[in-house]
Parts: sequence; structure tokens; C-alpha cells
Amino acid sequence: MSTAAVRIPEPARISWPPELPGGGPQIFVHEGARQALERRLELAGSGPVQLAVTDNVRRMVTNLRSRGTLRVRIHMMFLDAPERVKEALVRYVVRGDRDASQIVGDYIDSNSFRIRAERPVRHALRTKGQYHDLGAIQGMINSRYFGGQASDALITWGRRTAPKGNARTAIKLGTYSATERLIRIHPALDQRWVPRYFVTYIVFHELLHHVIPPVRIGKTTAIHPALFSLRERQYPQYIRALDWERRHLSRLLRFR
Ligand SMILES: [Zn+2]
Repeated sequence: MSTAAVRIPEPARISWPPELPGGGPQIFVHEGARQALERRLELAGSGPVQLAVTDNVRRMVTNLRSRGTLRVRIHMMFLDAPERVKEALVRYVVRGDRDASQIVGDYIDSNSFRIRAERPVRHALRTKGQYHDLGAIQGMINSRYFGGQASDALITWGRRTAPKGNARTAIKLGTYSATERLIRIHPALDQRWVPRYFVTYIVFHELLHHVIPPVRIGKTTAIHPALFSLRERQYPQYIRALDWERRHLSRLLRFR
């Protein structure tokens, strides 16, 4: 199980506890080095900066200004980069400097071995259903509840295993694969009578798995640790969605 990154929540919307309880982030980040770089970015630019350190496979540096705060995500390889690379990174992020982008690019190339191998997604992703568009739903959730920090999760309609047998007693409406960073939403939800707030809830739940890794306590693993449950209740239609699920589960189970 790998978690994508240490993510910095958007303080205006998400009240995370100051520390992740139990397991915490699964990549090691030198917090002092992160803060130092964050401070340099603040001094070089104007206004507050939130710096997140990731082990993202595809994007090494991203930055986005939103409501006065510059949100920067960098691959962890930059934390122990030589001074000239850090200096270039700051110039590149704050001013979009061309020369600096060359230095940063060269550094990424020569450190590509440090980018985690990604298990490729073998099937084509299908986000547009007949009734619900998962891409649109994920985009809305990502900006509204995750401060734009959960956009690197992939999503598709699909199920992990083909249905077999006759009577089904359980249905996995959504799954999340951390190795693929892929959310699968069961096609049973792509029906006219399934309300959008319910599909949204399932996507929201799976996106939480993307940002909150399981917590190991002794020999057991909490897939939905306390922080997860706390965050899940921040979805405004949480109670309504659970109630809808309870009333319609048998109908969903009849889906072929
Ligand atoms: Zn779950």
C-alpha cells in the first residue's frame, strides 16, 4: 500500500488534525527541509505558500495560485537537491523563469531513477457513463473538498472482478487501488434512478482512500481510520446517501 503524497489540506475548508493519527504519511519527508523550501518560496514571491512534497509519478512540479495562496507540489527528490537546483526551483515556481526551468528539467532527468515505478493501468478508462460523468464528479469533489490536491487519482466505470453465480448478497460500489491510483465505480450506479449525490458520495469515499492511507495498529490494519471517518462526515449528503443506499441496495444487487 502506498500513499500518493504528503498532502497539505486547504485550511479554509478542511479541518485536519495537526497530525495524522497512527500511521501518518507513508513517504518520509524531512519536515525541516520542506519548511525551509516553503519559506524560500514565500520570500521570493508574494503572499503565503503551501508546499506539498509528493512521490507523484507523473508531475514533478506543479503550482497553482488560489485565493491568494500559492500551492506548490514538488517531488521529494527536490528536498535534497543541490543549492543551485533549489535556487532554480524557486525562480521557476515564482517567476516561471526559462533558464531555471532548464536546470530543474535537467535535475529531474538525472534523477528519474528516483521516480517510483508505477503499475500501469491495463484497461482503457471510461469516465463518461450513460447517466453519470465520473470525470465531472471527481473534478467537482476535488476542488470543493480536497482543495485541488486529489486530482492525480484515476477513475473509471468498472468492477474489479466479473460477476459470477446467481444470488449476490454484496456489491462493491466503489474500490480504490493504491498501486494503480485507480478508483473503480460499479456500473450498477450508472442508472437513471441512481441520484447524483449518491454517486458523488461513493466517489468521495474512494477519493478519501486515495489521500488517507490505511493505518496499521499491531497486526490489524484500519482501512477506515478515525481521520477517514471524520472526513467522510464532512460530505454534506453523508446521512442522506447512507439512507439511500440502505433503501436501494437490493435493487442495486439485481444489476447485471
Ligand atoms: Zn472504504
